[in-house]
Amino acid sequence: MPRWYNPAVPQADWKSALDRTRRVTLGKLAGLVGATELNDGFWRTLETLLIQADLGVTAAQGLLQDLRQQAGQQGWRHGHEAVEGLKALLSERVAVARPQPTEAGPAPEVILIVGVNGSGKTTSAARLGRRLAKEGRRVLLVAADTYRAAGAAQLAEWADRLGLEVYEGRPGEDPSAVVYNALQRGQDTGVDAVVVDTSGRMHTNRNLMAELAKMSRVAGKLVPGAPHQVLIVLDATTGQNGLHQARAFLQETMVTGAILAKLDTSAKGGIGVSVVQDLGIPIRYVGLGEGPDDLAEFDPQAYVAGLLAADPYGAF
Ligand code: GDP
Repeated sequence: MPRWYNPAVPQADWKSALDRTRRVTLGKLAGLVGATELNDGFWRTLETLLIQADLGVTAAQGLLQDLRQQAGQQGWRHGHEAVEGLKALLSERVAVARPQPTEAGPAPEVILIVGVNGSGKTTSAARLGRRLAKEGRRVLLVAADTYRAAGAAQLAEWADRLGLEVYEGRPGEDPSAVVYNALQRGQDTGVDAVVVDTSGRMHTNRNLMAELAKMSRVAGKLVPGAPHQVLIVLDATTGQNGLHQARAFLQETMVTGAILAKLDTSAKGGIGVSVVQDLGIPIRYVGLGEGPDDLAEFDPQAYVAGLLAADPYGAF
């Protein structure tokens, strides 16, 4: 169970959430900042650190290629110039697939939360609901994970604690029927946003994908244009391994963005770069802690600054 909200406890921030990644890998960049020669050894060490931080080989090599080119063009001679250049390039890279705000269509906005079990789906669905409610929208959470006995109950418990409305599917009920009934209720009661927590069991992958497609169709029948967002929850602690699973979802469903959960417990925080670069989807939200308010909107600058922050290394 999450640590429940205590307003006296400050909520997690980007820098402390990325502390583990810095401690294990990118903090070692501090040793490169003082370099007075950008030679092959320098670039090799930089590449190794980026790969260790789980940026992915392709993303890391692409970055390095562009950075070396810039270094040549600008006549950089020192490590700190290269690291500053890296910051700028990384911020650009992770921001590149940022979505534009969509035109408001007929209400409610329907957001499907997908991903494998254990990635942080239910927690993210509840916290996203809380964010939207804080923006002044009337939110309905929908527990459509009817395969896990505790799936619906867990979301209902979150809803109860956060004071949000919830539509709970019964164990074994067809998830699309749950979505249909929930949307009807949402329309009848004037809800602005519906956040659907879906099942993520892996052993019947094909059925799961077919089911997600069916849910989307059912949602679109009731609300034109729905689902407006399909957000895949990725567990940042699984790094590159998690991306393999994500690809299956991307092939079969219309994923519009990612929620990168558990960044605070990951030493592989560079995975965010790979999500944008290799999967080609924008990161919309990030889990920076276990608390109800620890789901932050993705902020490319804060993310890169957190990855490469000075403290406690003091060098840059
Ligand atoms: P689901 O099976 O995908 O629905 O996953 P859950 O939402 O039940 O989350 C699995 C575990 O990850 C729970 O213990 C959550 O508290 C934890 N969790 C989810 N998101 C975060 C996060 O951003 N940070 C941390 N530290 N824990 C998280």
